[in-house]
Amino acid sequence: MKTKLCLLYGGKSAEHEVSLQTAKAVIQALDLEKFEIDPIFINAEGNWIKGPQIVGPVENVKALAFSDGQEMVPNALSTSLGENTGYDVIFPLLHGPNGEDGTVQGMLELLNLPYVGNGVLASAAGMDKVIMKNLFAQAGLDQVKYVSFIRSSWDHNNEEAYRKVEAELGYPCFVKPANLGSSVGISKCTNRKELENAFIEAFQFDRKVIVEEGIIAREIELGVLGNDNPECSLPGEIVAKKDFYDYKAKYGDEETALIIPAEVSTHVYEELKSMAITAFKALDCSGLVRADFFVTRENRVLINEVNTMPGFTPFSMFPLLWKHTGVDYPELIERLIQLAIERHEDKQ
Ligand code: ADP
Ligand code: MG
Ligand code: MG
Repeated sequence: MKTKLCLLYGGKSAEHEVSLQTAKAVIQALDLEKFEIDPIFINAEGNWIKGPQIVGPVENVKALAFSDGQEMVPNALSTSLGENTGYDVIFPLLHGPNGEDGTVQGMLELLNLPYVGNGVLASAAGMDKVIMKNLFAQAGLDQVKYVSFIRSSWDHNNEEAYRKVEAELGYPCFVKPANLGSSVGISKCTNRKELENAFIEAFQFDRKVIVEEGIIAREIELGVLGNDNPECSLPGEIVAKKDFYDYKAKYGDEETALIIPAEVSTHVYEELKSMAITAFKALDCSGLVRADFFVTRENRVLINEVNTMPGFTPFSMFPLLWKHTGVDYPELIERLIQLAIERHEDKQ
């Protein structure tokens, strides 16, 4: 019997297009002898549109961006998605807020459906950089110094906020919306003027902002896969020509190189693995994460973040890391589906 799979993709976030590309690649990689695939496209307005069952290869991503079809708003989902359709598993290929942050995961929990990737808690904690870093700190993980602000308190006395940043972190520092990904709204600041502008920019995206001490370091990433006994991939390094790894460098810039395996000593690799697993457990992750690190010239290893639904096209870091570790794209997808089903059974 075939596994009934429902793919959720698109979404209202900055990664809408990336998600569509990912959906196409995942469909291509799935064996249609083993899987029956129903697509649900979330358009840029946030409407959910169910398309026809996928029966063959998809020519281009436009064919996945339905404009007509059965429109589904999330609160009508229980009848459309629920037990009577009998999906074995849902695969949310969504990044950023309203996809990677626990909201969709919560809805799927309510529907009692198995789904790929992290649960509600890990997704939510991983989306909020302040909460994530607080949990990392509690788990004893080394990371850059940081402070956070709420918009209303900053509005009230922004001079105090700037002084706090300068006293506790100094320049350069990084100002980030607490709740985004893909480098959206992030600025590097080297003086007070830039800091002021960076706050204005970041607060356009979120009511909470984190400011971090800027560090000069290599950027090394590891894939983690599993539930209760997660495993790590080889390390990969991001070499961006830009000043930092911003949105363009992530999705447009061919000059950004991914080096796998990254050249690190055995000692550093052991530390990376152990920290990646500690981070995975600190957030109670399941399925997958990509753990992102800074490694300084003196080989100090600091965790930057985990991404609970990392870029997932065949050319993205996470699938490439696993490919080099011996798990190719189709196998990776099947492992994730298997992990989703196992976690669901474990909960029952
Ligand atoms: P996102 O979740 O949007 O990927 P990150 O925190 O990873 O946000 O920041 C994006 C990029 O900005 C990083 O990959 C790195 O290049 C740069 N960066 C972020 N924080 C720092 C920091 N504290 N010091 C140096 N570079 C940083
Ligand atoms: Mg991120
Ligand atoms: Mg990042």
